[in-house]
Amino acid sequence: MLTIQEYVKAESLEQAYELNQKKTNRIIGGMLWMKMSPLNIRTAIDLSGLGLDKIEETPEEFRIGCMVSLRQLELHPGLAAYTQGSMKESVRHIVGVQFRNLATVGGSIFGRFGFSDVLTEFMALGAEVELFQGGRMSLEEFSRRNYDNDILVRVILKKFPQDSVYLSMRNTQTDFPVLTCAVTRREEKVCAVIGARPARAVAIYDEADLLKNGVTDASARAFADYVAEHVVTGSNKRAQAQYRTHLVKVLTRRACQGLGGEAK
Ligand SMILES: Cc1cc2nc3c(=O)[nH]c(=O)nc-3n(C[C@H](O)[C@H](O)[C@H](O)COP(=O)(O)OP(=O)(O)OC[C@H]3O[C@@H](n4cnc5c(N)ncnc54)[C@H](O)[C@@H]3O)c2cc1C
Repeated sequence: MLTIQEYVKAESLEQAYELNQKKTNRIIGGMLWMKMSPLNIRTAIDLSGLGLDKIEETPEEFRIGCMVSLRQLELHPGLAAYTQGSMKESVRHIVGVQFRNLATVGGSIFGRFGFSDVLTEFMALGAEVELFQGGRMSLEEFSRRNYDNDILVRVILKKFPQDSVYLSMRNTQTDFPVLTCAVTRREEKVCAVIGARPARAVAIYDEADLLKNGVTDASARAFADYVAEHVVTGSNKRAQAQYRTHLVKVLTRRACQGLGGEAK
């Protein structure tokens, strides 16, 4: 059972950061993941009073505060238009609406869970994170880092002209994914991010220019094979590595075929 001795509603990020330096204290997001472990937390640090529950859209970028819920991501018209629906597709299978009303972007990205739909989607879109102490860096770099006591303040999504498609495979509708796959095309370069391998998501770029002359059935298959060769998969109770590698090929091909249109 999770126990919390004290609760502090932070008045500033400085205060939250200082409190978070003590190992027994913890930042809380929606607490949905946290409550699953038998933690004994000295002070729970709540960021909900700091105005970080907004998605700010400018002509250049989206600034997504760490307390934004997954449901907000799902319903935001600007994100829907910019991502051609892939943002909504990436979160809509996560448990249920009430759950998505509580789960936060901060908890989802800082957690860097292997199974994360959210990490897969944002990484493929070329997102950056802003950390209170560590400053800005690409999400791809952040995803490779070890856990520390920093605070994820927001996620920044630059509005590059890009196409994106998100697909996942689940054994049952709202279960954790067996595999996640987000494919984007930016400045004519295609990138596939594969998550739930079951390890953390990885980005594979079309370094071999297999899609340089456009997406055809043959080029989509060639890129899907290339991605499968470069992605290490593993087994867990949801699926075997071999099946996951098969899914890498199928989902990557379908996502490529869906670029600039509906996923097939
Ligand atoms: C039953 C269940 C099913 C799920 N299924 C899926 C799924 O299918 N796909 C998917 O993508 N996700 C899934 N998730 C994960 C979920 O979507 C959230 O990502 C997860 O609950 C974390 O978000 P939270 O707001 O609850 O964070 P919390 O549980 O509050 O926090 C998680 C961790 O992040 C830290 N943290 C939180 N916010 C910050 C911050 N701003 N800065 C620094 N550290 C911070 C906390 O200290 C904690 O260590 C599932 C979770 C559960 C419990």
